[in-house]
Amino acid sequence: MHRHLLFIPGPVTVAQPVLEAMAKPMIDHRGPEFAELLGRIEDGLRPIFGTNGDVVILGCSGTGGLEAAVSSAFSPGQRVLIAPVGVFGKRLANIARTYGLEVELLDTPYGSAVDPAALAARLKSDAAHAIDGILLTHNETSTGVQNDMAALAGAVGRHPATTVVDSVSGLGASAFEMDAWGFDIVVAASQKALAVPPGIAMVAVSKRGWERIAQAKSPRFYLDLARAHEFSPQGQTPWTPPVSIAFALDVGIRRYHAEGAPAVYARHERYARAIRAAAGALGLELFSQPGAHSVTVVALRLPESLSADQIRRALREDCGVIIGGGQQDLKGKILRIGTMGALSQTDILGAIGALEIVLLQQGYQLQVGSAVRAALQVFLEPSAARV
Ligand code: PLP
Repeated sequence: MHRHLLFIPGPVTVAQPVLEAMAKPMIDHRGPEFAELLGRIEDGLRPIFGTNGDVVILGCSGTGGLEAAVSSAFSPGQRVLIAPVGVFGKRLANIARTYGLEVELLDTPYGSAVDPAALAARLKSDAAHAIDGILLTHNETSTGVQNDMAALAGAVGRHPATTVVDSVSGLGASAFEMDAWGFDIVVAASQKALAVPPGIAMVAVSKRGWERIAQAKSPRFYLDLARAHEFSPQGQTPWTPPVSIAFALDVGIRRYHAEGAPAVYARHERYARAIRAAAGALGLELFSQPGAHSVTVVALRLPESLSADQIRRALREDCGVIIGGGQQDLKGKILRIGTMGALSQTDILGAIGALEIVLLQQGYQLQVGSAVRAALQVFLEPSAARV
């Protein structure tokens, strides 16, 4: 029987101690033990967001966190500028439309990151401050693109719009400085770089973010950030939380800090670089443009002679390697390989070797061992810490 390893960009392979944490008996979610647990989670998350402000947890996936941000921070009819770089940015726009917001898109071709100059120019032309919200994606999982959030923060500058960042597939994998960059609301999810099962969205809110939330009039109930904020000082959530996922998140955060943020960043960057090097050796183009590469997911363009479905099926059924395909317009055109989760260098090398085997079986010409060798060379660089 194969051991299945997840190389999709979330949910990710979860380490055994994190899985075991979920087998603990239930506790009273209004009692002291949960209050301590919640306090530890919030304290542990703050440095990962780069904030001294508040972090609340919600019992939902990342999309719920984004819906909470949009519905809690805006009122129907308000205008938001959204800069999508893929499917998830477009979903954010759909959430905003669902809540009656007037959506303006700052378009970027798929594969590229948002051009900070384009964002700055659009905001400069908004002298009357008609734009109430700026909604950005840190890491776009559908295209393997990562935005330069420091540069985008600079582009926003002093524009007074409420800023919301989808960092669902970014947070934790590279440096994020919410306070220094001046973002109001940042959304993340448990099943990505923190390598915990899905079920908790984590939302960090600035002081100004809470002020905006207090004024917002969109209808909301379960996903009301203000309510979560009200309960957090008592060590509680407004509704019954996913207690087992909270146990797992607590352990996941502890493991994250034990490894140390710089080592975690280096690991994701190194794995992504190894996969990109392997793609180069195979003659497969990257979907993301130079300078826009994500550290959590690598998107590879497929030549028309190859079938994404067949490759993914053979990898899954014959090799126990689960990778992602393209979504919506990119279906059949790209493969996506994630770097997040409890994966070792050996796992990455194994997945690349499996990809070589499957490509050869599908009649693709390649030099046997070339992709594994290219990845191995990345791992053998003197500065590369071992995992
Ligand atoms: N935003 C981004 C960038 C994502 O990658 C994802 C999921 O992959 C989401 C939002 C949606 O999160 P979820 O699937 O947890 O609802």
